[in-house]
Amino acid sequence: MRNITLADFSLQSPSCAAFIRAMREGTLPHALLITGESGTGKRTLARLCAMSLLCAAEDGERPCGVCNACVQVREETHPDLFVLRPEVPLRASDRAADKKPRRYIPVDDIRELVARAGEHSFEGRGRVFLIEQAHRMNASAQNALLKTLEEPVAGVTLLLVTDSPSLLLTTIISRCRRVSLSPWPTDYVEKELRAQGVEEGRARQAAYLSGGSIGQALRMAADEEWFALRKRVMDDFLGVERYSQVQEISARWKPRPPKKKEDAEEEEGESGGDALFDVLDELTRTALMTRLGQADAALLEGCPEAWRRMAGEAPLATFSALADAVAQARRLRESNVTWQAAVDRLLFTFARTLQPYRRRHD
Ligand SMILES: [Zn+2]
Repeated sequence: MRNITLADFSLQSPSCAAFIRAMREGTLPHALLITGESGTGKRTLARLCAMSLLCAAEDGERPCGVCNACVQVREETHPDLFVLRPEVPLRASDRAADKKPRRYIPVDDIRELVARAGEHSFEGRGRVFLIEQAHRMNASAQNALLKTLEEPVAGVTLLLVTDSPSLLLTTIISRCRRVSLSPWPTDYVEKELRAQGVEEGRARQAAYLSGGSIGQALRMAADEEWFALRKRVMDDFLGVERYSQVQEISARWKPRPPKKKEDAEEEEGESGGDALFDVLDELTRTALMTRLGQADAALLEGCPEAWRRMAGEAPLATFSALADAVAQARRLRESNVTWQAAVDRLLFTFARTLQPYRRRHD
């Protein structure tokens, strides 16, 4: 398994490249705000930055990644690195076992940060304060932090990480250098997954569906249930050839028993529910993107021949008709009474749509 390096990040976005240049030249400002959608590598970049600032390597590329300081940053045990996060109070004495995990970073943590920022660094290379999910600082915490941002302490670097910068005070944002991470290019995500041992077809699929998030792609690639469901949907809905098969196939797709609202989050991935429609939507969208030349035809791997032929030559209206049929089925499934009828109708639609693209055996 390969670790993502600063060199990878310099390909990420212009603001990221400028940030890494400044890091190498030793001209980083005292406060940085790292933003970007989930899975774009904000936390990884913040750690690399902390490592680079505290790395003990005398010469060569920093961070070296192997010196004692680099290892300590990775393990969050470096005496000059302080990580603030909502769940864990900064002061050990506040970490009572019986307390519920916090949802916000309170002002106490920031006061503690300010006090520690005034102390001398242990190793003499400065001190780094990393605030994860910075948008979860409550209002008084943000105001307390503002003072530190206005009166920087020599040798202290603040790294704020968030995917919701709009929840921060504008005065905080304006006092930090902003580093915005973008979604990663699909082929980069795919390469990364391959490097981590994900099988080729699955890496391609997960990279394509991840929207440029490496974290999301890794989660997807590991989701056996989803890949199994996708295979079943492909076999049944894209593979249905004759109307006489509809009833038999439909019987395999039973509605779920009604569930209580609080269980809603656990429903994902279930074969009978929205997951079926999600997979059908994804398959239809991927076929359309292939048709438009915006997705690699290799993404259709495992799909029946007729589906691949359709993705290569069908008029665009075909894809919107399929998407409409799925949307209609979603509405019908609101009630278990109409569930089977909705599935039947979908199967008929797919069978009819794919009819012209089947090879004739006469
Ligand atoms: Zn090092």
